[in-house]
Amino acid sequence: MGTLIMKFGGKSVGTTDALAQVVSIILNEHEHWKRLLLVVSALEGVTDALIEATHLAKLSNRRGFRRIIATQRARHLALVDQLPLNPTTRNALQADLDRLLFDMLDILQAVGENPSDELMADVTDRVTSVGERLAARIVAALLRQNNLRGVALDATDIIVTDNVYGNAQPNMPLTRERITNNVLPMLDRDIVPVITGFIGATKTGQPTTLGRGGSDYTASILGICAETDAVWIWTDVDGLMSADPREVHEAQTIAHLSYEEAAELAYFGARILHPRTIAPLQEQQIPLWIKNVFKPQQAGTHIDHASANPNTLKAVTSIQGLGLRAARSGPLSEISRLVDDTLFAVTGSHADVMISSQSSTQSFVCFVIPTSAGPDAIHSAQQALEEALNEHPDMQTWQVHPVSIITVIGAMLDSLAQHTASILQVLEGTRILALAQGPSHCSLSVVVNPQDAQDALLHIHQLILKAGERKK
Ligand code: ASP
Ligand code: MG
Repeated sequence: MGTLIMKFGGKSVGTTDALAQVVSIILNEHEHWKRLLLVVSALEGVTDALIEATHLAKLSNRRGFRRIIATQRARHLALVDQLPLNPTTRNALQADLDRLLFDMLDILQAVGENPSDELMADVTDRVTSVGERLAARIVAALLRQNNLRGVALDATDIIVTDNVYGNAQPNMPLTRERITNNVLPMLDRDIVPVITGFIGATKTGQPTTLGRGGSDYTASILGICAETDAVWIWTDVDGLMSADPREVHEAQTIAHLSYEEAAELAYFGARILHPRTIAPLQEQQIPLWIKNVFKPQQAGTHIDHASANPNTLKAVTSIQGLGLRAARSGPLSEISRLVDDTLFAVTGSHADVMISSQSSTQSFVCFVIPTSAGPDAIHSAQQALEEALNEHPDMQTWQVHPVSIITVIGAMLDSLAQHTASILQVLEGTRILALAQGPSHCSLSVVVNPQDAQDALLHIHQLILKAGERKK
């Protein structure tokens, strides 16, 4: 067979057991595919820790950031100690990791000595990019130990991006050129590149990151540039699910989704997949699979262009968003601009204003913050918005409050009124703040108060299960 890209997430590279699984999966697929490319994330929790270290450096908290780096160093070296490596490989690997960690400490030290109020997203990216570099070296060493020609590659040399630190966009023509010149020839020599997920670099070589959870996106960027036949994302759950299993116990793995459905699901909060992953794959019709590292024989979730059965509802998600309300009506352009500017300053991504509505005396605007902006983004965004509104005397009538956006995903939701009717029926009694039909044809969102979200989620999920049973 042709070319396959496999991406391994933070949980699948974090422990010796998980790494043993990863190696056996790679060895197995190496038998089946002519060319193999791998993408790895940082070990679970490392990116969070490095962001925190940068934050402490900015506050000149030298002890704080040193402690974090010491902990990460100990963790990585202990992991390497436990891996089945011969002494020479082990020593070389540990020296390699140590050098990366010391270089990073230098950067943090410099920040600690010259603290500033600036966001310093560029420094955060230089520091966080180290997490993926460490992981790629560990996986590559394991492959060499198993007689594969594993080579760790830093995506800073491969993926060229703009300079929106923290949420960079790739420059596809330049990236494609580098992959054609530098990576594809390696594949022809039976080398298995282990490429760092999440990171890239500007034209001038400054490291950037693609947004939290960005390794999935790395796999799809590489997928279209290397013209792969498939992309497999390995994670620690069985695939994309009908709801977040932490919130809905009966959640089930979804066997198949169309590209549109998967994109909507990721956008509206399924944390398994970076929201920007799907678009490039869809453009080139490259199929995507999401599989569980611990159960490799299971099929997982398959995503491709095949149109979905219009009679099924696939999934329901709930994400936090922010709603703005004002006791007046009139043009919304000013408030939209303020929201967008503030959000961009805080999260590096543009506001996705998803719903706005007005009555004769009231206005309501509601937007989501992509999961790629990181887990704290919603709080920082709310704070920043409140401050921004206060600074504009004519905007002080706007009140910001958290909302929950419940989104149902299913094929042709926009043209099958019976689905909309049954969704609204199970929400009987819930206060609906706004309602929106996604332009993608396969999503319907209702905005509710956060305290109503859990019930709404459960009721809609029951509807999904019932619809599934009817089909059987
Ligand atoms: N390590 C990065 C993060 O935690 C990227 C990823 O995991 O995909 O966001
Ligand atoms: Mg992820």
